[in-house]
Amino acid sequence: MLLTSDTMPLASAAIDRAAHHRLETDWLDAAFKAPDVLVCLFQNGMPLVQDNGGLLWLGAQAASLSGIGERLFLGKDKTGAAIFALDMTLAFKLAAAPIAGLGDFTEARMAFGAMSPMDANLASTARSLFEWHKAHGFCANCGAASAVREAGWKRACPSCEREHFPRTDPVAIMLAVSGDKCLLGRQSLWPAGFFSCLAGFIEPGETVEQGAVRELLEEAGIRSNAASAEYLFAQPWPFPSSLMMGLIIKAETEDITVDKTELDEARWFTREEARAIIAGTHAEVFAPPEMAVAHHILRVWSERES
Ligand SMILES: [Zn+2]
Repeated sequence: MLLTSDTMPLASAAIDRAAHHRLETDWLDAAFKAPDVLVCLFQNGMPLVQDNGGLLWLGAQAASLSGIGERLFLGKDKTGAAIFALDMTLAFKLAAAPIAGLGDFTEARMAFGAMSPMDANLASTARSLFEWHKAHGFCANCGAASAVREAGWKRACPSCEREHFPRTDPVAIMLAVSGDKCLLGRQSLWPAGFFSCLAGFIEPGETVEQGAVRELLEEAGIRSNAASAEYLFAQPWPFPSSLMMGLIIKAETEDITVDKTELDEARWFTREEARAIIAGTHAEVFAPPEMAVAHHILRVWSERES
């Protein structure tokens, strides 16, 4: 399967965000109560999902729930129905609500993997924004309490009038390769046998490729060539607001020196081994699940002949 940024898990089947409605408060209020509205719920970073794993969509009855915190306008579906997400406050008790029994708030990483592509994209967008609001209640310029604006897509400070926009933090996630070998690493907290691509946040003043080169050197002692970096695809990763930029990059050295504060181990694997890891048949090593971009970077390289 040919994968692009547009078909990446958590990014695919994106809807019309209809951003022009974000300033239309009357339109938003009416749309929220319209008979065809679609509303999903979050609490504490967790989406409300049905027993079958699908995101639970409520209609106009959502407006009558008590304990609604932030309300986010996500956009419109193909029929023109407005889509909202609600971040329920901790005062909202699901078991005592009129929607009790329809679903449960579920840990997001687990939940997203079981959702349809569109639901996973919407839920992942909502989670990222809700987590941003939670951590940015006060103006970074003057310290006053800021307020939600534009249907959840902005905060504004009533004191100094500074506007604040949701974060998207670029991360280079890269597979360093040397001939027929690729470099994978693992952190000490990961399950035994779990290896993945190396990754790190891009710093100010860096390109994605330069960030990848720096991280490889810092984490594994591997020198690589920024000009050789091949960009594959990107994935929004809402834990809480990363944009993973997937690269394959040529290593110029093979001796590994692991920075133990970052990684527990890094190791070279042959292409044959990489194929087995992706197929789930490697004797001791397994890869990230298909929901994660690292899986697809490794798969793309493993499927190449050279
Ligand atoms: Zn301010």
